[in-house]
Amino acid sequence: MATEMITVFIVVFGLMVGSFLNVCIYRIPKKESIVFPRSHCLHCNHQLRAWENIPVISFLMLKGRCSSCKNKISFRYPVVELLTAVLFLLTYFRFGLTIDFLVYIYLLCLLVIITFIDIDTMEILNGLLILCLIVGVYPVLEGGINSIYQSLIGALSLGLGFLLIRMFGQFLFKKESMGFGDIKYAAFIGLLLGWKMALVASAIAFISASVLFLILLPFGKIAIGQRIPFGPFLSLGALLGLLWGTHILEWYLNLVF
Ligand SMILES: [Zn+2]
Repeated sequence: MATEMITVFIVVFGLMVGSFLNVCIYRIPKKESIVFPRSHCLHCNHQLRAWENIPVISFLMLKGRCSSCKNKISFRYPVVELLTAVLFLLTYFRFGLTIDFLVYIYLLCLLVIITFIDIDTMEILNGLLILCLIVGVYPVLEGGINSIYQSLIGALSLGLGFLLIRMFGQFLFKKESMGFGDIKYAAFIGLLLGWKMALVASAIAFISASVLFLILLPFGKIAIGQRIPFGPFLSLGALLGLLWGTHILEWYLNLVF
């Protein structure tokens, strides 16, 4: 199959999976089934017909409104669909059509679900972390005994590091500024990436969170000591660490030394 064909196939597949991830993001926190009932409008319960359920395209055709009650459809649906397609494509460019590709798109899907549920509910659900763990051990097994140590040190250092940050935040602001979910998620990322890449990932997470904080602060959208969902930043760090961690680390070391 020509590369162009594969690329198109992966984009379409990514959009379709993204559409399913939207359902998961919306229904899992409510403990609803992700299979039944079929997709419907959240305002009027109008059941989506096939042509109203095409990723991104239906949103554009419907001009972002339900065909029945004309209420707005969240802009986030096409965003998640496009994001998933882009993530699938980047993973393909990085790993080719390999087992790695399949393992990591599964993982990235979970990262997308965790990220958006964390934004909505400020919670990182244990069930999703367990689903992560199923493939989190894959790179460990693949890399042999050396990799097991790297991963265990990664999990321990990130888990303990984030626990310390939580305690420090509690001492400083006298309230919870980082949830246990973030600590478990960080430990998982340490396990997945090994300690070197995990350090890159957590540096990216803290830098991106700080940048967003400094942008939002003057607008009064956020206050010092306010608890923010940290999952999205950890996901960003994990993604960049997974795809380009070695390059980022080399670039940083060249910059410093
Ligand atoms: Zn409707």
